[in-house]
Amino acid sequence: MKLILLGAPGAGKGTQAERIAKVLNVPTISTGNILREAIRNGTEIGLKAKAFMDKGALVPDEVIIGIVAERVAQPDCAGGYILDGMPRTIPQAQALEAKGICMDAVVSIEIEDAVIESRMTGRRVCSGCGASYHISANPSKVEGICDTCGKELIIRKDDTPETVKNRLRVFHAETEALKDFYASLGRLKLVDGDQDIDDVTREILTAIGVEA
Ligand code: ADP
Ligand code: AMP
Repeated sequence: MKLILLGAPGAGKGTQAERIAKVLNVPTISTGNILREAIRNGTEIGLKAKAFMDKGALVPDEVIIGIVAERVAQPDCAGGYILDGMPRTIPQAQALEAKGICMDAVVSIEIEDAVIESRMTGRRVCSGCGASYHISANPSKVEGICDTCGKELIIRKDDTPETVKNRLRVFHAETEALKDFYASLGRLKLVDGDQDIDDVTREILTAIGVEA
């Protein structure tokens, strides 16, 4: 199963990708996590991406397409994968098709802009594995520590209200059109993202025809 999770920043893509990946037993490919790791490691890609990410802008398509093409060619992706946060532009989606990276399903996690602010102010992410938590809706078992890898939870630099506003603007201007793109290919499913995390997971699994 090759699945794309679409949605605004804060819609719950990372949270759901982790859960669905466990059910499907496939890896999750989060371009945001890959880029943040590249920044931490000071790689060339990280240096290129940092200024865009800090202001909530999109990293250039060619950088993203290169990252994903390389990642999906790894052996652990042979049985499928979940793309979280990619594609974010029509050229990125076209590049996937052109490279023969055809997805089985595309799920858009639907959420109103008004809900996103509280999601972002309460988000904490693992500095090691990138797992996403929320101080009230999805807290870690031990405050400030990742349940999965035990590393410290941090606030993302781009989760400030000003940057979130810009990321939402970019989402509506550049990314939302992907819904029409995938609807016209007959692959789009819509899921209500404004419900409990477990309910969203259930709805996604139903949408892609998988029994939990
Ligand atoms: P995205 O990857 O789409 O940017 P995340 O999965 O990181 O979004 O979720 C954003 C924030 O909202 C996180 O703090 C997460 O714990 C929280 N969250 C995710 N899904 C829900 C939900 N259904 N209800 C409440 N909070 C949620
Ligand atoms: P995310 O972790 O998905 O919220 O992504 C964080 C930031 O990484 C975004 O605001 C962009 O700057 C950058 N980014 C992640 N994925 C992409 C993508 N597919 N295209 C362009 N920029 C991206």
